[in-house]
Amino acid sequence: MVAKKKISERKIRSPIITVLGHIDHGKTTLLDYIRGTIVQKREAAGITQHIGASFFPMDTILDFCKAPESLRKKITIPGLLVIDTPGHTAFMNLRKRGGAVADFAVLVIEMPTGPMQTTWEAVRILRDKKVPFIIAANKIDRINGWKPEKDADFMESYNKQNKFTKELLDKYLYETIGLFYEEEFPGIERYDRIQDFTKNLAIVPTSAKTGEGIPTLLIVLLGIVQQYLQKKIEYTDGPAQGVVLEVKKETGYGMTLDCIIFDGHLEKGQQIVVGGLNGPITTHIRALLTPKELDEIRDPSKKFSQNEIIYAAAGVKILAPGIEDVVAGAPLRAVGSEDNIDDIVKIIREELETINISTDDEGIILKADTLGSLEAAALLFKQEGFSIRKAEVGAITKKDVADAVAAREVDEYSGQICAFNVKILPDAENEALDQNIRVFQSPVVYRIVEDYKEYITSRKNDEITNVMNELTLPGKISILPQYIFRRSGPLVVGVLVEGGKIIPKMKLINQDGKTVGTLHSIKKDNKNVKQAIKGEEVAISITGGVLGRNVHETDKLYLKAPESHIRQLRTRFRDELAPETLEILIEYVKIMRKLDNLYWAA
Ligand code: GDP
Repeated sequence: MVAKKKISERKIRSPIITVLGHIDHGKTTLLDYIRGTIVQKREAAGITQHIGASFFPMDTILDFCKAPESLRKKITIPGLLVIDTPGHTAFMNLRKRGGAVADFAVLVIEMPTGPMQTTWEAVRILRDKKVPFIIAANKIDRINGWKPEKDADFMESYNKQNKFTKELLDKYLYETIGLFYEEEFPGIERYDRIQDFTKNLAIVPTSAKTGEGIPTLLIVLLGIVQQYLQKKIEYTDGPAQGVVLEVKKETGYGMTLDCIIFDGHLEKGQQIVVGGLNGPITTHIRALLTPKELDEIRDPSKKFSQNEIIYAAAGVKILAPGIEDVVAGAPLRAVGSEDNIDDIVKIIREELETINISTDDEGIILKADTLGSLEAAALLFKQEGFSIRKAEVGAITKKDVADAVAAREVDEYSGQICAFNVKILPDAENEALDQNIRVFQSPVVYRIVEDYKEYITSRKNDEITNVMNELTLPGKISILPQYIFRRSGPLVVGVLVEGGKIIPKMKLINQDGKTVGTLHSIKKDNKNVKQAIKGEEVAISITGGVLGRNVHETDKLYLKAPESHIRQLRTRFRDELAPETLEILIEYVKIMRKLDNLYWAA
């Protein structure tokens, strides 16, 4: 059961905390350690399981940290609501008016490994959403020579290490701090060296194995939240505000909404308005469910307790009729006795409208697990200049594949499905294969955008290469006078390719634009070759060329290229050409323009 208190006594609520970081850096172990140690130390420690979160009451945390009396007096936060899915960046993308649902985060980084890709992804999201955080520099027990001391305060343990081990830890910490500096995150410091926590970001060394530094981490976290986050976690008496984590069918209950309530309270029987696929949905609460303690579950289909009232901050499962179309990530508000329901519907509609993702006829089909992550993903795709044809919450369906096919009909590069943290339905998967629709999936938004970008770039490059291969580059050659093998019928000479490319069966012109014959064949080391490029010395035969008559030893010869090819090369493919090739193109155009055609290849 969620702790009840008279509403008048409540001023601030428990902050909502999330733990982030790269896989295997120790997020789960850290959370389990805190939970496990507290449960072992105190019977009925008061830790309650919420939907999607665990609640740690403040007294229990303070006891675990052996918090000094001075700190106990200062702390008025009722407890910490810690989100249970560590590392889940989707949670960070949940939105509420004015910011993220998470009030504070712990970023776990393994020492000496340091930050990895997902660490930076988490940092980027934290920065975007303006969520304050501290860093747990974890696994310090693995540092060479470390002498562990169970559950000790970090400084206490650190001071007992030998000089070498201390220096090693400091070196690792400063390497990480340096990397953050490079990412434009200056001012990270070991927590004990910080004077002003509004200016510096604290890094606390921890071990989720020996517990060292964990009380320290919690004390630093409490201090920061209590001192600087009061405004953010103010509790407003009144109807609840929250966000939907998941819409879920639950055996024995039917459709339910897993929600995080971040302000106010929620009562059984109360009316609520929640965001749906096609706008606000008004319904009423049939039951407010929270998980039973494991040992209380006798019948597995009855794993939840019923509650009359739930106070923020809390994770709760709502049973209500008509919620099938609710979307994950949607806002939720309870309707109080003094509220006008139309006003609440309007608020929810407005909140939904702020997630308006503009779409085009061409572009990708974007799918995500929550409205917030959909919005975040859409923003990233748009920043990269990509169009979106459809953006929706939910699994990939056959309809999405049909939409992708329609997008491809508008634009040949369009029509991919990019899905963030959602499944693909089996019939949709088959259809995508049949229709040759590419599906990009990842639990990390940035990765999908990167993969997609790489795919589009490589497709466009292939296209450029294909088209360019069809175009004639006017390769330029000079005759090597010491290699005249035959003066006519055909003329056979050694040449140096000065730039571009020469290929057989093409006409050659000289520096005055006059055709001198056809380049019949190219030989290198006595073997016929299909082409020669810049810098190569080869022997060529020119049918129609007669040395001393229409070809001279000092001539520069060019492969004759059609005007349309030159125009395309100079415009569409300009960026793809080597500078010296571009120079030859310009020379070529000048020659052609001298022949009385001022606009040749313009
Ligand atoms: P997560 O993916 O970030 O949740 O990482 P886990 O909590 O699953 O930890 C990954 C591995 O690292 C597990 O084998 C843990 O036992 C181990 N581990 C986590 N924290 C520590 C620590 O502080 N010290 C040591 N030695 N091992 C740790």
